Amino acid sequence: VCEFDDVLGLFAATRRRCPDRVAITYFDGRLTYRELDELSDALAHHLVEQGVQRGDRVALYLQNVPQFALALLAGWKAGAIVVPLNPMYRSHELTRILDDARPVAVVSSETGWHDVLGVLARQAGVRIALTTSELDMQTRHDPRLFADLRRRPADDCSDLLEVARAHLGRTPPEITVSGDDIALLVYTSGTSGVPKGATNTHRNIAFNSEGFRARTRDKDGAGIFGLAPLFHITGMVCQLGAAIALGGRLDLVYRFHPGVVLDALAEHRPAYMIGPSTAYMALMNHPDVTADHFASLDLVYSGGAPLPSAVVDSFRERFGHYIHNGYGLTETTATATSVPAHLEAPVDEASGTLSVGLPTFNTVLRIVDDQGEDLPVGEVGEIVIEGPMVVPAYWNKPAETRAGIRDGRLHTGDVGFMDAQGWFYVVDRKKDMINASGYKVWPREVEDVLYGHPAVREVAVVGVPDSYRGETVKAYVSLRDGRTVEPAELVEFCKRRLAAYKYPRSVEVLDDLPKTATGKILRRRLRDEAARTAQEGRR
Ligand code: ATP
Repeated sequence: VCEFDDVLGLFAATRRRCPDRVAITYFDGRLTYRELDELSDALAHHLVEQGVQRGDRVALYLQNVPQFALALLAGWKAGAIVVPLNPMYRSHELTRILDDARPVAVVSSETGWHDVLGVLARQAGVRIALTTSELDMQTRHDPRLFADLRRRPADDCSDLLEVARAHLGRTPPEITVSGDDIALLVYTSGTSGVPKGATNTHRNIAFNSEGFRARTRDKDGAGIFGLAPLFHITGMVCQLGAAIALGGRLDLVYRFHPGVVLDALAEHRPAYMIGPSTAYMALMNHPDVTADHFASLDLVYSGGAPLPSAVVDSFRERFGHYIHNGYGLTETTATATSVPAHLEAPVDEASGTLSVGLPTFNTVLRIVDDQGEDLPVGEVGEIVIEGPMVVPAYWNKPAETRAGIRDGRLHTGDVGFMDAQGWFYVVDRKKDMINASGYKVWPREVEDVLYGHPAVREVAVVGVPDSYRGETVKAYVSLRDGRTVEPAELVEFCKRRLAAYKYPRSVEVLDDLPKTATGKILRRRLRDEAARTAQEGRR
């Protein structure tokens, strides 16, 4: 499907084909492909002039602002490896990443630079710093997002847009990248432990950006609404990369806020929307939401986190759109399976789990046992992925690379199965299995049942250490606006639908569940919390 070996080649082709189309919207701000190209050329020129060399790391600490795309393209044009940093990270998380990635340059928001990154970047030996304001690319500032933001230029940094404009028209650097060069160093968010840097190559990214276009109904020039953060692989590839492949438009809103997203959808009328399932749950729960907000959409995608089939049903019932599931990891440059545009994914009858789809083009998924042997249809084992979008290695981590990526095959740490028609199902993460009285309980199955209860908005199921059973099942839930429910009723609801060893022995209602910046529910934090409470109870 991919005629380009690197993502800059893909960008150049789109720029030639449709230079005056809008590439990015940001409130009332607009950037065309020509502007994006010229400004990123200028910025690349500056980076090279300042000493950035091929293979050097350039870190970005930005929310979903157009400057992210500018800096990303500029870094690539300078031959650098771009390291997106989660703008919610604070010193502990940032230090670990900066120590491992050793960037020579950073591009930061002004706020981020003042609040946390400035000091850390200097300690880590960063030589070049560019800052930019969230308010720069627009004149209409949404008070729901920017009420407290003020421009605070840092006197020890250059201003990204000023620099880019000052260098406009200079000859861009004469650097060519190849498909095998590392384009991104993306640290996994650590929902399951220490962050590891995945080394996504230019080919990995070009392949999956083009793949998105091929999977959609290929509406040339269509708009994509970006619900996922750009620092996450889904944002960079399935939103920005996909928009570039389509010669289309990416609509950005700084960060996810359901009310702001609904207004922006009404204004920009995109054809595609992509984000984590929790974003759809938040949109559905918003008091102002109507079917009209989604009327322009042709295809709706969810990926990067489990998608309960109850959410798909309710979204379709209320707004008339089917949500297409997709599965992948940072290490597979986002998508590894998807549900083709004209199909709907089956639901496994026994567990109620919605399929994550079929392997994408040129991609092979295997289900293997602990010895790495292929398992038959229907049996649950680890998912192993092979394809042109699997990263070659983890950065600076030869042992983890040997353990996780062998001969181009990624051992995902997810368990799942394949049905007789070739559809894949993700049961859960291997490490999240609960061992209750010697029985395996996969939290997802219990969560899917609770998502079927009308009062429930979000669920996380965890195992709690128990001296008698080994572990017991506990559910944390948050409720839809205006709903109340007794925990005992939810326990009963599960008891009627699940085997005796699976249903939760306790349910706790929280206002909100803890999440990563990408919108994934942090089961690990709740598991620790549950273990602490259980221990205190025993004392
Ligand atoms: P870490 O790997 O450090 O824990 P992370 O969870 O943020 O961090 P990602 O690469 O963003 O890492 O997420 C990949 C994981 O998300 C997969 O391994 C899988 O467990 C889960 N996932 C992604 N898509 C789906 C899906 N459609 N259904 C179920 N789970 C999914």
